[in-house]
Amino acid sequence: MNFVCPHCAQHVELDEFEMLEIDTLHDDFHCARCGETFAAYINDCMHCAAEQTFVWKAVPTEAELAAVACDSCGHVNSAPGRDEHDSLF
Ligand SMILES: [Zn+2]
Ligand SMILES: [Zn+2]
Repeated sequence: MNFVCPHCAQHVELDEFEMLEIDTLHDDFHCARCGETFAAYINDCMHCAAEQTFVWKAVPTEAELAAVACDSCGHVNSAPGRDEHDSLF
């Protein structure tokens, strides 16, 4: 899987991304090029099944995670850690 580092804007390929769980925030990745850490999240759209990657320079807030929307159809999955507030819609 291919990520673009939010710090140096270089494509970073890491084998460990192959094993990343989807719909889970991973906040401790190191860019192999610039050495900075960044947070990555794989969004598996529940609506159209598109799989997309999102990255942040710092760990995203709950609001930032909740705003992650599918590029293809605009669907917003419920963000991780928000199960107790499932009455949004
Ligand atoms: Zn980098
Ligand atoms: Zn979608």
